Amino acid sequence: MIRYRSTRATASGGETDLGFGEVLLAGLAPDGGLYCPVDIPALSDLAPVTAGTPYAEAATTIIAPYVAGTFDEAELGEMVTAAYAGFRDPDICPIHRLEPDQYLLDLTRGPTLAFKDMALQLVARMLDAELERRGEHVTVIGATSGDTGSAAIEALAGRANIRVVILHPLGRVSEVQRRQMTTVDAANISNLAVRGTFDDCQDLVKAAFADTVLRSELKLAAVNSINWARVVSQIPYYVVAARRVSPDGGPVSFAVPTGNFGNVLAGWYGKRMGLAVDRFVVASNRNDVLTRFFETGRLIIESVEPSLSPSMDIQVSSNFERLLWEAGGRVGEAITELITALRTSGRVEVPASWCQVIASDFDGLRLDDEGTLAVIADVLRTTERLVDPHTAVGIHAARKLGKHGVPMVTLATADPAKFPDAVESATGRRPELPPHLAELFDRTEHYDVIDNSSDSLAAALRGER
Ligand SMILES: *Cc1c(COP(=O)(O)O)cnc(C)c1O
Repeated sequence: MIRYRSTRATASGGETDLGFGEVLLAGLAPDGGLYCPVDIPALSDLAPVTAGTPYAEAATTIIAPYVAGTFDEAELGEMVTAAYAGFRDPDICPIHRLEPDQYLLDLTRGPTLAFKDMALQLVARMLDAELERRGEHVTVIGATSGDTGSAAIEALAGRANIRVVILHPLGRVSEVQRRQMTTVDAANISNLAVRGTFDDCQDLVKAAFADTVLRSELKLAAVNSINWARVVSQIPYYVVAARRVSPDGGPVSFAVPTGNFGNVLAGWYGKRMGLAVDRFVVASNRNDVLTRFFETGRLIIESVEPSLSPSMDIQVSSNFERLLWEAGGRVGEAITELITALRTSGRVEVPASWCQVIASDFDGLRLDDEGTLAVIADVLRTTERLVDPHTAVGIHAARKLGKHGVPMVTLATADPAKFPDAVESATGRRPELPPHLAELFDRTEHYDVIDNSSDSLAAALRGER
C-alpha cells in the first residue's frame, strides 16, 4: 500500500506516513508541505493499458495502486465511470492529429470546458465517499485563476458533506469563467472575489490552512492542484495519449500549458511509472517564472501580469515544490530552506545538481499575447480548428521544440468558447458555448467582494459578514 509524506517532513519529524484518505482530506500538509507518494508503482506491474483500452478502464488501473487502503479497485471503478459519464465525447479525451508528428489531446470535454474537470469530477466523488464513510463534513476552500473554481463548484454543488468557498481575483478572470462559478445556485457554494491577484488568493488559502484554530474549527480541506488526489487523477491521460499516438511504445513528448505545474507534474509521474516520454515542454505566457528557471537555474518571482491566458497568470507554481523535492533527493530540510528563502526574498538559486535532474526531463518556452493570437489564427488556417489562448501557448512550444519522428502531444486545456474575445480577435470567429451553457449570461450571479487580507477571509468563512 502506497504511503505519503510531506515535502517538508524532516529527519526529526513532520508528516511522514499517511494513507491516501488522509492526504485527500488534508490537501496541504500541516507543516506547509505537499504530500507525495513514497513509492511509485510501475506500469509494468499493472494490467496493460493499450491503444484500445477505454479511458475509464485505463484510469482505474493506473490510479488504483495510489488509493489502495482507502478505495478498492471496484469502488474506484464506479467513481471513475460516474465521473466521466457526462463528458461530451465517448473517448473522454479524444486525440487529433494536427500535422506530421504533432497531436492535440483534447481535455476540454467535461462540463466546465477546461481540463480541470478531468480531475475534479473524480476527486469530488472520492471526497464525498470518504467523508460519508467517516461521518464527517468539511469546508473546501480553494483559490482559482479561473478554471479550478468552476470545475470544483460544478463537481461539488449539492454534496451534503461539503461546503465550498472559492476565491477568485476580482476582475482578473474572464466573464464566462466568472459566470460559470457565480451562477451555480446551490446552498453549499460561496464565491469570494478578492481585491488582488491569483497569487494573493492562493496565499490567503495557504494562510487559512496555516491558522490551526480556523483550520480545525471549519475542518478546512483543499481541492486546489496542491491536493495529491488531483495530480494522480491526471496521470492516466498521459498514458492513454502515449499509447494512442505511439502504439509500439516508442517515446512521446508532451507540451503542457502551465500555471501551477499540476498538469505537467502528473505527466512526469507517468514517466516515473515507466511511460516512455522524451521531453516535457512547459509552456508559459508572459508570466514566465518557469521558463526563466529553465534558462538560469534561478527562481525569481515577479509581479503577475494579466494575459490572454489568465489560468496561467501565476508566478508561484505550487506543485513545482514536489519536483524540487524529488530532484533534491527528498530532503525536507533543504526544501523548507529553499522555499522559505524564495518566499522571503522572492528569489532563490536552485542547487545545480537539482537543476540537472530537472533539465533531463523538462524544457520551457514562453509566448506573449501577440504571439498567442498569431498561433490561434495560424492553427485555424492550417488545421481548421479553433483553439483557446492557453492551448495556443502550448502548440507554439510544441512546434518550436518538437523533434522529427517523436510524436509531440499538446494538451488542449480549455475550450475556445471559454475565451471568446481573444479567439474572435485572432480569427474573426466567435466560438459558441455548448447548449448546456447557452443561458449563462441570463443567470443571476452570487458573490461577495473581500479585501486581500486573512482577517477578511476568516470573517467571510465564519459567516461574520
Ligand atoms: C489550470 C489551467 C492551466 C494550468 O494548469 P496547471 O496544472 O496549473 O499548470 C492551463 N490552462 C487552463 C485552461 C487551465 O484551466
